Parts: sequence; structure tokens; C-alpha cells
Amino acid sequence: MNILDIRNECFFNNYESVKRKLSDISIIAVHHSAREYHIGEDYKHVIIQAATYHKNKIWGYLNSKPIYGNGLMYHYVITPDGQIYKTRNMEEVTWHANNANNKSVAIMLQGNFEIQNPTIEQLKSLEELLQKLLIDLSLDKSSVFAHGELINYGNQTACCGRMLKDDVVRFRNTGFIFDQKYIADENFKESFGYWLSKGVFSKYTDPRRQPTNQEIGEFLYRYDKLRSS
Ligand SMILES: [Zn+2]
Repeated sequence: MNILDIRNECFFNNYESVKRKLSDISIIAVHHSAREYHIGEDYKHVIIQAATYHKNKIWGYLNSKPIYGNGLMYHYVITPDGQIYKTRNMEEVTWHANNANNKSVAIMLQGNFEIQNPTIEQLKSLEELLQKLLIDLSLDKSSVFAHGELINYGNQTACCGRMLKDDVVRFRNTGFIFDQKYIADENFKESFGYWLSKGVFSKYTDPRRQPTNQEIGEFLYRYDKLRSS
């Protein structure tokens, strides 16, 4: 997994964040940007725009003075090409989930998943990043939530969007986004070969070789979405 570290471009050093220990973290919250992605745009530039927006936003008032941000409020960002960016130190408390900021890490996927699907590349990277963070933070998969699931903390939001939420729930239940029961199904490998021969999946794999289990899982995921839409 290749993680690009752009923390120095997403923190604007106008004041320090509240710090914590990694052992204080008990929740991984998944967000969307709520801004529609467009394939081929400059994804990194979009991250910097979001960081600037968070810096200039008035988050509240203290003694009648506005409180501005000090950088991007998400610790990791995953762009539509599947690239993972490390954008803030996990030891820094950022503002992304009401009443749960002290104890949570924020992963944001670029896109508006109320109206568009995350890309397969984004989902693959999200699965990998979640699995890595669970190890790094010594947490169980039950610690992973969509932002809008943190209702007990007072978060009332559609974030991370209805097209992504089920994937987050599946990860919490199984530790995977791509359904392992499909991946283990030998029968499906055969029908996968059929679909492959029809060119349905040619975008993702070379028809001259056997698909990998991961590709089959991705295909099924996409196939399920196609059937249900
Ligand atoms: Zn959110």
C-alpha cells in the first residue's frame, strides 16, 4: 500500500491542535467530501482546496470571536484513483464528528456518495487502509463507523452517503468490503469466466489469464450493484 504523506500541505500552522495519544483512539469514522468527483480531475488539488476551506471556515465563536480551522479536518483522504493520502497526524484532534473528535480518526473519500458510487479503486484502498489502521491502533473491526452512524454522539448527517454506508457496515461486520463468500465460491469463478469472455469485465483484467480472487470479488461487488440499481 502506497500512502502519500502531504501533511505539511494540509496543516496551516496558525495554531497547534489539541494532542492525544494513539491509545485514546477508539473509533475510525468514514466520511465523504460531499463534493461530486469528476474522473481525471486534479484530485490532490481538490484535497488542498478542502484544506483551505476548512482553514477559512468559522467553526464557532469564543468570546464573540470567530474560531477558524488550522487545516484539513480529516486524517486520511482516498481519491477516486485509489491513492491514499496521509493528511494529518492521528495524534492531532481534528473537528469532524460532534462529541467524538477526541477519540476518533477521520478517513474521507472524495465524492458525493448520495448521488454517485465510490470507485472500485477507492473501495480497495479503503479496505486496505482500515485493515492497516486496526492493526496500528490495536482496534477491533467493530470500531469502524460511517460518520452518520455516530448518532449517540449527536451526529445527524447522511455522511458518508448511502452509496458507501453499506460498505462500511459490511467491513465492521466482516473485516472486509469485498464479500469473501463470493471470493471463495468456485462456481462463481466459472461464471466469472463467462462474463469475462463477454467482455463485461475486460476493463479490469486481461481476458487471456485467470482472474485473481480479488478481481472476482470486485467483479461481484460491481455486479451486485448493477443488479440492485
Ligand atoms: Zn462526515
